[in-house]
Amino acid sequence: MEATVASKWTEVLSHIHREVGETRFNLWFRNTTAVSFQDGALVVGVPSAFMAEWLETHYMKLLAGAAAAEYGKTAQVKFRVDGELFRDRRRQETAARQEMIEEGAAEAPPKFESERFTLDNFVVGPCNAVAYAAARKVAEAPGRVYNPLFIHGGVGLGKTHLLVAIANSVKGGRGGIEYLSAEGFTNRFLFALRSGSLDAFRARYRKLRLLVIDDVHFLSNKPATQDEFLNTFNTLSRDGAQIIMASDSHPKLISKLKETLVTRFLAGMVARLEKPNFTTRVEIVKCKASDRGVALSEDVTQFVAHRLRTSVREIEGAVNTLAAYAALSKAPVDLAAAGEVLRGLIESTSRPVRLPEIEAMVTASSGLAEGQLRSASRSRCVSHSRHLAMYLARQLGGFSYEQIGNFFGGRNHSSVVAAVEKIDRLVRKDSKFAREVAALKGEFEP
Ligand code: ADP
Ligand code: MG
Repeated sequence: MEATVASKWTEVLSHIHREVGETRFNLWFRNTTAVSFQDGALVVGVPSAFMAEWLETHYMKLLAGAAAAEYGKTAQVKFRVDGELFRDRRRQETAARQEMIEEGAAEAPPKFESERFTLDNFVVGPCNAVAYAAARKVAEAPGRVYNPLFIHGGVGLGKTHLLVAIANSVKGGRGGIEYLSAEGFTNRFLFALRSGSLDAFRARYRKLRLLVIDDVHFLSNKPATQDEFLNTFNTLSRDGAQIIMASDSHPKLISKLKETLVTRFLAGMVARLEKPNFTTRVEIVKCKASDRGVALSEDVTQFVAHRLRTSVREIEGAVNTLAAYAALSKAPVDLAAAGEVLRGLIESTSRPVRLPEIEAMVTASSGLAEGQLRSASRSRCVSHSRHLAMYLARQLGGFSYEQIGNFFGGRNHSSVVAAVEKIDRLVRKDSKFAREVAALKGEFEP
């Protein structure tokens, strides 16, 4: 190996050392080596497959960032298991393992993450009202109602937010609180098993006031960990501790989960998070925008709420993107800019709204006959509805003026521009009309 590859690796390591601190550095990085650097890929030697996996799931971002700084932008990090390193590793593991178990918190969400999740900044709507009410109750009186509390639902719908928010709100009282993912629980349990430190592990997780386990579905098909978790669960319940869990599916639908666990999970309260509806999404956009300190106009807010439907995380991503754009361009974000900036996100996540759907919707809601919007008729009601349809086509579908004009009876560019502007003015002026338009937009659910 070239000297430069090695010396750069030393730099990478010292950066990581500063980032993660002594204990974790000794555990996960001390015995790594840079094996080679070729074609933009850095191969890192690690003592075991377990280590490779651990580094990959927990430290990839940090590693990739530090490697890119030393080896150049295209640096890609791969791992190779190296038996030689394994022997060195064993010697040190013995000393370090106790420390790790004591220090813990390796998989807890990083501080800035966990502190930003509170019960007060969780937007409540029909999709999550039950889970939210339960979370509040549990936070007020842990161990007394709904024990365990089991929250399930799709990705990015707020499970982790609620879990961490409860933990945050309970914090400060007497007795221990642990938040960790089921994956973290599994890793720690297996590590304790291998390193002969089960007693310390049990002392830690069976004497708590509150145990929060995220992404419980990870326990699927892990019988040994499931047994351990069952015992942890039983001991904690017996002692009146609160247990809160989240998962991507209902306990009964987690595959290869022991019946005894399923039964325990169902004994308290099971609440499901649904996808938010349009009105709630609008509230979420407003909440996230105000968190980010970015002012978004009503139409941009509705545009985001309309186009991003499947997860709150996506909505949050969109708002962050708009905030970054606003800061860079030093100008308020208008609809055209929002459409442009968010195009990638929107295309990858939502089904496009089609012109015939808009036509059908406006025709039905204005009580017109089929085909009238595309006809030559210039009666007031028909033109007004046609203008509204053009406006919606622009806002919801981002169609060009030409496309819209062609579709609605071959009208020219400037008349479509005028129509869209007219409706836009009306929406700003007339709040009743604005509500009608918002309701119409909300109808275009997937
Ligand atoms: P999950 O764990 O269900 O995959 P998260 O809890 O990580 O989802 O939520 C993803 C992001 O969306 C987080 O940043 C969270 O703050 C935000 N979020 C989800 N639901 C809401 C809500 N109802 N109100 C405010 N923010 C939310
Ligand atoms: Mg989560």
